[in-house]
Amino acid sequence: MLKRILCEATLDWSLHCPGPLLIKDGRYKKDEVKRGNRVKDPNDVFISRAPIKEVLEKVQDHGDGQGLSDLPFYLPGTSLRGAVRTRAEEILRSVIPEERSPETACIPFEERDEKLKSCSRRMVDQEPDPSPYAAACPACKLFGCTGTASRIEIPDADLDRSKGFSSSIRDFVGIDRFTGGAFQGEGSGGGAKVRLHVLEGAAFSLKVRLRNFEHWQLGLLAFVFRDFAEGDVGLGFGSAAKGFGRVKGEVTRITLKYRAGDGVDPLPDVGTLCGEAERCHYRFPGKALSGVRLVAAKADPLGFYQEYRVKNPGELWARSAELFHEFVEARSRVPRSPSGGEETES
Ligand SMILES: [Zn+2]
Repeated sequence: MLKRILCEATLDWSLHCPGPLLIKDGRYKKDEVKRGNRVKDPNDVFISRAPIKEVLEKVQDHGDGQGLSDLPFYLPGTSLRGAVRTRAEEILRSVIPEERSPETACIPFEERDEKLKSCSRRMVDQEPDPSPYAAACPACKLFGCTGTASRIEIPDADLDRSKGFSSSIRDFVGIDRFTGGAFQGEGSGGGAKVRLHVLEGAAFSLKVRLRNFEHWQLGLLAFVFRDFAEGDVGLGFGSAAKGFGRVKGEVTRITLKYRAGDGVDPLPDVGTLCGEAERCHYRFPGKALSGVRLVAAKADPLGFYQEYRVKNPGELWARSAELFHEFVEARSRVPRSPSGGEETES
């Protein structure tokens, strides 16, 4: 993909988890294995940036969750990225039929299913495409795969202590996934009880960055972020079955960055800003967006770039979602109106 940056979007995203949230600290269990599978109490703890030695000391000194509350907890970007990508893939698969593969989302790590095998696998198996980006499915165009880097960057987010939270232990009767009965436990003691350290009422905020974006990608994210805003996406342990990890997300600010001197009305994307040869190579639809009002940030006279704040994020979401609809329509073989024919499908 293009090395130089033509456009960048930064989304300020605030997340709040009113109920219990557990992102497991993988180091905690590793230590358990080292010590001969002695079951720990609690069985898992929330991930933090503290050295594992300090975590273990705190667990030893304080049996309750309260005693752990001053650990520097954080939400790993990889967990959040996984949830965002999974949701985006679900949306793509629900609107673009798998018969149109690779126009719909591939299944990462799928090696055999011809229709949905991962782009990384497919690209190894077939004639190489001069542009892996162009050959990738829409999910891999945004999140990356072998041969094409990710356009989106989701960093780790520290717990926002100013918004209040509680650190506590939750007891469960573990269910044995094979018998459906109570889990009898491993190692010494056994027993059906599972004790988990969770955070409740936790808030996080972070900046999601999208480099050299296409407008339909913002449109796809409009649907993903809406699902987060409506609390339809779960994070971490037990989000499917136990009611853990219910999260509400709100994009509070969107900032766009373009090269100084590039016109921003209508709003360009990478496909409209690159040269003709690149547009063909990467097969960008290259469509500008109109009807999005921007507020220019103070210009840096020495800078190569100019920043703009989107006046009303809802406008950008609505307009880019329309372009995502067009993107989908072109890939679903739904009869199109005679006026729409700008897509540069190959
Ligand atoms: Zn893919």
